[in-house]
Amino acid sequence: MAPVKADPAKAPETPQNEGAERAMERKAQSRAGSYDISIYDAWCKQCGLCVAFCPKAVLTSDTFGNPEATFPEKCIGCMLCVLHCPDFAIDVTEKEENGEKPEV
Ligand code: SF4
Ligand code: SF4
Repeated sequence: MAPVKADPAKAPETPQNEGAERAMERKAQSRAGSYDISIYDAWCKQCGLCVAFCPKAVLTSDTFGNPEATFPEKCIGCMLCVLHCPDFAIDVTEKEENGEKPEV
């Protein structure tokens, strides 16, 4: 009887072969809570884009449309809010530990 070749497409997902996308998501998740979110009210025009694009529902709008970082501990630092803000009114930075700059 001829040996049966394993179909790589049907191989179970293991730490060795998990997709790059999933690995990145896991890495992002592990860094949740490591970011500071700053919103500059004077520049913000309450368009809501940052709230709409945040994949982790970190941001919410108050009754006047002002964005708030309601759940900062869920931020994964994806920067979608920063990239979509038309007025440079929101910034996300990695928290510093022990007063030292984080490694890039
Ligand atoms: S970087 Fe911005 S869009 Fe991404 S998770 Fe944090 S608050 Fe949400
Ligand atoms: S995307 Fe920028 S201008 Fe629009 S609500 Fe968010 S911070 Fe304000």
